Formats: sequence, structure tokens, C-alpha cells
Amino acid sequence: MQHLWTRTTCYFDCQHALNYFYLVMKKFTEILFLCCTILLSWNGFGQSGQPNILFIISDDHALQTIDAYGEAYGITPHIDRIAREGVIFNNAFVTNSICAPSRAVLLTGKYSHKNGHKDNMSRFDAAQDVFPARLQEVGYQTAWIGKWHLQSYPQGFHYWHILPGQGYYYNPDFISMEGDTSRIQGYCTDIITDLTLEWLENRQQDQPFCLVVGEKATHRTWMPDLQDLGRFDEVAFPLPENFWDDYTGRQAAQKQNMTISETLRIGYDLKIDAHTGFGSDNYTRFTPEQQEKWDAYYEKVEKAFKEKKLSGKALVQWKYQRYMQDYLSTAVSLDRNIGKILDYLDAQGLTQNTIVIYTSDQGFYMGEHGWFDKRFMYEESMRMPFVMRYPGKVKPGSEINELVMNIDFAPTLLEAAGATIPEAIQGKSVLPLLEEAKIQWREAVYYHYYEYPGEHQVMPHFGIRTQDYKLIRFYGEGDFWELYDLQQDPGEMNNLYGKPAYEKITLTLKEGLKALIRQYEDHEAMDLLSEAKP
Ligand code: CA
Repeated sequence: MQHLWTRTTCYFDCQHALNYFYLVMKKFTEILFLCCTILLSWNGFGQSGQPNILFIISDDHALQTIDAYGEAYGITPHIDRIAREGVIFNNAFVTNSICAPSRAVLLTGKYSHKNGHKDNMSRFDAAQDVFPARLQEVGYQTAWIGKWHLQSYPQGFHYWHILPGQGYYYNPDFISMEGDTSRIQGYCTDIITDLTLEWLENRQQDQPFCLVVGEKATHRTWMPDLQDLGRFDEVAFPLPENFWDDYTGRQAAQKQNMTISETLRIGYDLKIDAHTGFGSDNYTRFTPEQQEKWDAYYEKVEKAFKEKKLSGKALVQWKYQRYMQDYLSTAVSLDRNIGKILDYLDAQGLTQNTIVIYTSDQGFYMGEHGWFDKRFMYEESMRMPFVMRYPGKVKPGSEINELVMNIDFAPTLLEAAGATIPEAIQGKSVLPLLEEAKIQWREAVYYHYYEYPGEHQVMPHFGIRTQDYKLIRFYGEGDFWELYDLQQDPGEMNNLYGKPAYEKITLTLKEGLKALIRQYEDHEAMDLLSEAKP
């Protein structure tokens, strides 16, 4: 009996051990399976360390309307999310504040004088060395969808589908890689998202991707999506402090043609007398259903406007309110659509292995100095929004105050992808800024704007900006300097050039400017500098 008992106990012990072994193995297999699933869902990130890249570049989106940069209008939750889950660059600048040249800088990592694309009128030589072609060499699948605006066709991309020129907000045409142009019904920002998600869905899943989404929003003439019409009707926007700027001491600012009072058009920009003033192609592209909803809103705006019989400052203030309403309503759709793309990444398990960058091709004036548009080296247009999410590399909620530029995008993405950064690239990868607390970094940025007279008669100029000061040299029809103390005068209202007590800083900045011009090999500026009045 005892023998039986012992045998039985032994049997149960062995069975127990086997069961235990089986359970351990089962758990181990489950963990192994889970690890494999995670690795596979990382689409190469875990295996090769190459992250996917989603680069969203909007058009004319003013940093001062984005909440991540300080309390604004509460309409950018998804851009704010990128910042919150990643890093915000508080001092990010363009080299030349204008649409197409800025895209050329993004593609090449070089200043306009090096990539040859100085203004909106010229054609970008897309056959030159562009960063997506380098990404292809290290195994990336590359694509550009949406606004391109460089006159030539994209190169360095496996896939592209672009708006011709500026494109339209409603029922826009798109050019395919085969060269066909076809009209797609709907609202431009939504369509760009649809094309983006379609491409992501059909991409080669075994390769990392770099996808650039070129948004048309928030470019003039700020046509909101139908669902966003009237969104800000009840808001009274306060005028910026320097809205009534009289441009004392600033000759180029006196000469420009980009004011809300004179330049912003009641018909073309603010949609009054839509059938005649705003009319043109924008209006005739509507479907009858779209037109009905559009008219229902803007005819109401028009009626109220005509009843008021405004003039003088009251008229200018009305224009400002309408400008803000249309611009921000257009921006609402932009952010909503960025949200849709982020949601897709979440749903597909791509969030963890995808770098997401949101930026705009430059900043924009929201009534500061009484202006809309861009071009000037002043803060509102020289600064660009730049937020980046890079899980595993960037600590959520990081802030960088060092001076970064749009020439830095290309080298940053090349470094992240493990590609070699060509020597001719003039920017620097920003990744070391995120890894090391103390790092040698640039102490000043260089800027050069060319287009003149252009659409807004902003005189050509170049200059240097440090953390504290800005020195600008205007040339062409004029030859004069401007100096600003950015800490004391962030609105850049008080030109200190030639004022007593500023001789020393002026001299230092001029030396710095010369050094940057030499470093970036801007020979034209060097010649201009040698001819400049002291
Ligand atoms: Ca632009």
C-alpha cells in the first residue's frame, strides 16, 4: 500500500513537474511570439534601426496660431500632440522666407544661393542632390504627396502625386507620376490626407518609408472647408500691439506692399462679391452643392459688411477680423487632417517606429506690423513651427532653444536613417541636440531674401540673428542697415542701427555676418557687403 502510495505520489510529482514545464514553455512561447509581433509591427525599425519618416510641411502656417508655442486659439490639438509626445524647437528659422525656395532648402539642405532656387518665379532643378534620393540608397521607400510648387517634377521619390502650382482648395487638380492631370472632388486638405493614407496602406511593408505630405493650407486665399465656415463668427480678435505700425526708422517696411489695410483685397481675399471679385477659378470650381453652402455663408457676411458702410480704421479692423476668421478656419481643417494621419499611425502600430515632423515653409504675419504674408527677416516670418516626435530617441515634452534652421531637416533625417550626410549639405543634424545637454552649436543664423519686387515689394536683404540681436542689411533700391535688440524689443519696432551705445554690438554682429557669409559661400552677399555703406 505504502509502495503504491509512493508510486502514486511519484506519478503525481512527475505529472506536476511536466505540467509545470509545459506551462513555462507555453509562457515562453507566448512571450517569444509577442516579441516577434512587436518586432514585425515595427516594420524594420527593430531589425535595422531605421525609423519611418512622416514629414508634414504646411504652407504659411503662423507659429503664433499654434498652441504648443504659447496660448493661441485652441485649434491645434494634433500639432500640439506631436510636440507633447516629442520635442518643440522654439528657435527654428527659415533661410529665405518664401514658399518654393523653402521647399528647395528642405530637399537639399542648402541655402537658396547653393540650390539655385532663390524666388517663387524660378524653376527648381530637381535633378540635383536631394535627401530622399540618399534615403533610397539606404533602403527607404520615398514619396511626396500634395503641394510641391517647384515647377519641375519631383525626383528622388518612388512615388509622387502633386498639386500643379499653388493648387485649389476645392476640387483641385492633381498631377500623377504618369503626367496626367485629373480633378479630384472634395476639399484639398481632406484629399491630401486620403491620398496619404492610401499610399501608406499600399506601401512596400518590408521597407522603411519617408513620406512628405505637402499641405496647401494655410496659404492665401484661406478658403475654409464647408464644415468650418462661421467657426469664428462670434470671436473678436484683439489687434496685435503693433498693428498700427507707422514704420518709423524702417525704410523697407515703409515701402512694402503687404498690409491688411491696403494690400489685402476685399474681393479676392475676403470673398466679398464672390461672383465678381473673388470669382475666378476658385469660385467656378465649386459643385452646385458646395456653391450653395458657400454662398449661404458668404452672402450673409457680404450683406452685413455692406450695411455697415465702413471706412478708415473701422474698415481695416473689419478686414483684420475677416482675415483671422478665414485663416484660422482653414487651419482647423489642417490640424484635423494631421490628426487623421496620426490616428492611422496609431491604428497600424506605426507610432513607435515613425519620426513625425510638423513644420511650415515659413512663418506668417497675423496682423503684426499691420501685415499678412511673409518675406521679411523679422521674427513672425523668419521663424517656422518645428515639432518632432521620435519615440525612443526624444523624451516627450522636450524643448530646444538652440537656433535651428530648415537646412537642418535633410541632415537630421539622413542621420536618423543611417545614411551618409553629403559634405555639400550646409545644415547640421539636430539629433545631437536631443542627446547631449551641453553641445557646441551655432551661435547665429544667416538669412537671405531675394524676390523683388515680387508680389509684395519687400526689398532684398540678408542678415544675422543671434539669441539676442538681429542685424539686417537691405540692398537693391536702398542700401541701409537695421539692428534690433530682440530681448528688449521683440516686436522689432525700434531700429537701433547707428544709435549711440550700439557701436560695439554692431561691429561684433558685422563680423559674425561676414563669417557666416564666408561659411555658407554666399559670394553675392559678400560683394554687396563690400559695397555697402558702413
Ligand atoms: Ca509659404
